Amino acid sequence: MFGILRRWRRSRLLKEPFPAEWIAILQEKVPFYVSMKPSLTPRFLGQLQIFLDEKHFEGAQGFVITDEVRVVIAAIAVRLTTYLDISMYDRLTEIVVYQEDYRHPNQKNALDGPEQPGIVYGEAHRFGTVVLSWKAVIRGLRHEDDGQDTATHEFAHVLDIADGSFDGTPILPSMRDYRPWAEVMSQHFFALRDGKRPERKVLDDYGAKNEAEFFAVASEVFFEKPEKLQKLLPDLYACLRSFYRWDPALPTEQQPDPPTS
Ligand SMILES: [Zn+2]
Repeated sequence: MFGILRRWRRSRLLKEPFPAEWIAILQEKVPFYVSMKPSLTPRFLGQLQIFLDEKHFEGAQGFVITDEVRVVIAAIAVRLTTYLDISMYDRLTEIVVYQEDYRHPNQKNALDGPEQPGIVYGEAHRFGTVVLSWKAVIRGLRHEDDGQDTATHEFAHVLDIADGSFDGTPILPSMRDYRPWAEVMSQHFFALRDGKRPERKVLDDYGAKNEAEFFAVASEVFFEKPEKLQKLLPDLYACLRSFYRWDPALPTEQQPDPPTS
């Protein structure tokens, strides 16, 4: 879609009322929505409307895509961009959802696909598709402070590739942010790879696979165990805070207000 058309469609969408039945789904199924700072809610819901309007959901192996599936997955996606521009998801066009953790052959161009046929929870493809197991999505929401959330992980990969490459470095606010980002992320990536503490205490070993996985794993922990990450690896926490522009370790009422544009 051309940029001008997209902007027009988005501004029109934001004038429409948010469906009450979607609010009910959020209140019942999405714990972080219930505890969100009230001043953030309008921006979050606006991004949710745009995401649901622009992304195509496809059920795999007969799985039926309901409003609950769409709203819950979209909510997890836009939590990551609540303080950012929803356009960071422009490369993402399709979300394929399986009922269960699934099994399939190796996929080239995908992160998190198996190297050999095996069980998969989710994948992010460079051509604009995220694949998720609904079971894994629900598991992530039920255990919202264990530091593991498949959908958050895959959507972090989508933000990473917004600049065209899966390399663990998303588009940062300014040019001067790249060097400190590279230094901090590399230091902790190599420490995790070498099995050092405190990295291993808070980050899953899967993050040692490569820089892209390190960013996705660290993002899961940033949203699910922010206090622990800040305590053990404060410079890594600060890097992620500067990217997401969110400070999840703060109590809700002290969270920054959302940007106005
Ligand atoms: Zn991954």
